[in-house]
Amino acid sequence: MAHTIILGILLFFCACLGCTSGRENPSPSRNYPLRVLCTTGMIAEAVAAVGGRHVVVEQLMPPGVDPHLYRPTARDKWRINAADVVFYNGLHLEGRLEPLLAKRGGFLPVYAVTENLLTRWPERLRPLAEGGGIYDPHVWLDPLLWAECVRFVGERLAELDPERAADYQRQAEQYVAALLELDRYAREQLATIPPTRRVLVTTHDAFGYFGRRYGLRVNSLQGLSTLDEIDLQSMNALIRELVAEQIPAVFVESSVSPRALQAVVAGCQALGHSLTIGGELYADCLGPPGSPGETFLGAFRWNVDTIVAGFRWGEPG
Ligand SMILES: [Zn+2]
Repeated sequence: MAHTIILGILLFFCACLGCTSGRENPSPSRNYPLRVLCTTGMIAEAVAAVGGRHVVVEQLMPPGVDPHLYRPTARDKWRINAADVVFYNGLHLEGRLEPLLAKRGGFLPVYAVTENLLTRWPERLRPLAEGGGIYDPHVWLDPLLWAECVRFVGERLAELDPERAADYQRQAEQYVAALLELDRYAREQLATIPPTRRVLVTTHDAFGYFGRRYGLRVNSLQGLSTLDEIDLQSMNALIRELVAEQIPAVFVESSVSPRALQAVVAGCQALGHSLTIGGELYADCLGPPGSPGETFLGAFRWNVDTIVAGFRWGEPG
């Protein structure tokens, strides 16, 4: 009898917490519209597009915030618990949030949008030089990889809300079409940069997928995370390379301090090479309302235009 009562109490609490049998087999949600919490602006935009009027989307990290460094607040814990489903990037982008998300994953559906890429097509990901199954998390900067993440969101929402599965699928493909159009634009624009100038230098190594997709050699002062140290040796090596190859511009990022790249510019100028800051790119976050990077599609287009203009700087004729 006591066992039956305890089991009953446990089942009651489990139902109250929206406990599912894990991410593999989430029960369809009884809530409508679904309350979806997303970590970054890029994910929030994708989920809003895929979910349409069937979801209420909340974004955990405000615009301009560096996801590598983001520390969850007490309010974030409450927001995660109050959601029906959580989408995050994964691949260690949100390093300081991941323990909290893993903990909640036993009670509510918590998904890394990169899950399909990691499990089905790991060969499409950039491994860290040291290996060990650690991959570059900046997949949104290749629209074709991001399209797979958008489709993954559509699949998961359809599982949680099967009645509207056709809507999620259709809306996911509409957003994918916008990404493919963005990719076409980027290919056309970036192809105008002379091959000898195609070296994209930024503060941290966010543009690896972007460079791979559009034929740009990418160099940076930091590794894949803004937590990585910048050492004087790599800074000097970069200055020598920029001078030797007469690269006209480097680019700062909206969520990272420009100081280290400003020092690189000064170093090049001291050696007689006229290098400029080509502009500010949206790497790991979107811009504030009213800025060109307010939306992901706008931010990506801004990046393409800024890079093209920066590389043309000082072009003869
Ligand atoms: Zn980053």
